[in-house]
Amino acid sequence: MKTDRLSVIVWNEYQHERENPAVRAIYPEGLHQCIADGLRDTPSALPGARPLTLGTATLDEPEHGLSEERLEACDVLVWWGHKAHAKVDDAVVERVQRHVLAGMGLVVLHSGHFSKIFRRLLGTNCSLKWREAAEKERLWVVEPSHPIAAGLPEHFELANEEMYGERFDVPTPESTVFISWFEGGEVFRSGLCWQRGHGRLFYFQPGHETYPTYYDPNVRRVLANAVQWAAPRVRIADRCPRVEPLETLSVKAGTFGSAGIVQRAEDLQ
Ligand code: ZN
Repeated sequence: MKTDRLSVIVWNEYQHERENPAVRAIYPEGLHQCIADGLRDTPSALPGARPLTLGTATLDEPEHGLSEERLEACDVLVWWGHKAHAKVDDAVVERVQRHVLAGMGLVVLHSGHFSKIFRRLLGTNCSLKWREAAEKERLWVVEPSHPIAAGLPEHFELANEEMYGERFDVPTPESTVFISWFEGGEVFRSGLCWQRGHGRLFYFQPGHETYPTYYDPNVRRVLANAVQWAAPRVRIADRCPRVEPLETLSVKAGTFGSAGIVQRAEDLQ
């Protein structure tokens, strides 16, 4: 909202890459860096797309790299988490939620379906079926006019992904952009949009840490479009103020006792 540039922070718990050599071999600088590289190198297909100012943040940084100052300046936060959801400080979750409600965009990836922030914003279990068997996934664009689908083919495939299957326990989305089919037969709503407060929320299913999903050109295009779509339209911290009436009110004192209730005189006649 502050400049023509869109300020994006890619957050990653950054645990698997440091503990598992197989994951590190695919993402030597971490999932967050690969996702940020994709956003830098893949222009959005959307007309009027804004240039990005990219940053990253990880769990082990002070305040998980998500201080009030950084979130205040952030337009869209991208979230990858899996094994360390419980280690995310509740105060930081509340801070992220407050910024989303005020207008900051949030893009939640893959196993982030069980993150504290996603479950808090949606209010449901966010549970699903899963199986790690390097299956082929075919993603179908079911809303081609949606901005997040810009420049994408009718369908595209990932050679190996973790299967996520329905039922995905989330509130009915405002838009379903992608539906996926997996080799084993399950289907999944893999690209979903909601609004919470003034902020836009997009969930995108692909991105298991043992597969090179975030190098895929179509996945990179989805994320490039998603950060543009999720950009804030306003930044308003809603409160609950008592306000004076815009018009002059006539009050019949005492009609409703001493409870302090006032009512327009004409309603009482
Ligand atoms: Zn996974």
